[in-house]
Amino acid sequence: MARLALVTGGTRGIGEAICVALKDAGYKVVANYGGNDEAAQAFTDRTGIPAVKFDVSDFEAVKSGIEKITAEHGPVEVLVNNAGITRDTTIHKMTPEQWQAVIDTNLTSCFNLSRCVIEAMRAKGFGRIVNIGSINGQAGQYGQVNYAAAKSGIHGFTKALAQEGAGKGITVNAIAPGYIATDMVRAVPANVLEKIVARIPVGRLGEAEEIARGVVFLVADDAGFVTGSTLSINGGQHMY
Ligand code: NDP
Repeated sequence: MARLALVTGGTRGIGEAICVALKDAGYKVVANYGGNDEAAQAFTDRTGIPAVKFDVSDFEAVKSGIEKITAEHGPVEVLVNNAGITRDTTIHKMTPEQWQAVIDTNLTSCFNLSRCVIEAMRAKGFGRIVNIGSINGQAGQYGQVNYAAAKSGIHGFTKALAQEGAGKGITVNAIAPGYIATDMVRAVPANVLEKIVARIPVGRLGEAEEIARGVVFLVADDAGFVTGSTLSINGGQHMY
């Protein structure tokens, strides 16, 4: 039987590409999203993949979301923690709300989701978790102390949880994308984006499908020896 994969923030951008790639690879896929019902409906119409709304930063909402998905589709065997937001500004202008929203949506969400699926994975003796980090969590980025802290946290979270899962058939890995052409990056001012692209060795933005390919590799049944890793998919930018 096809394995069940849940992709948070799966209705747009990188998440959508991950959902489609997993579906094409033979998984049964459920997407989660946060609030944009119109985008979610359009996504389901395009892909035939169901979308479930809950706020990944709210533990109780995640708990009932996972219970609903389990009741309808069975236990989640593959979890992709992809949902994320930015609230960019320099620290002397950043509000506590901008700090907290980014930490909660990008990092606490990984705890919330993993906590709610891990017991079923342990019981089954199989699980795959992929957390979407960022090159900016590895290298830092001007105007992103909140985002860089959250994404950096994801990389530590991944290695710690990988150790806990290793004896139970559960692998936990991260992907650190570079700059990918999605709504998040389109929101960056053109003059800033130009400077960013100039620093990418392959000389272009990445495509969401290029991140999805990495996810399909990491969640495969025969990828059980890959755990606690961070896969850099960034056009070579991590070398500079
Ligand atoms: P988008 O902004 O295109 O999509 C974000 C998705 O996350 C949407 O489906 C959105 O749902 C969902 N989401 C946001 N907040 C919540 C929430 N509280 N609860 C549930 N879902 C939520 O993002 P990208 O595709 O660009 O990014 C995907 C991931 O990749 C993020 O973690 C991002 O940090 C990371 N990343 C992206 C890079 C890039 O260059 N684009 C580079 C490095 C990392 P809704 O539509 O309802 O708002």
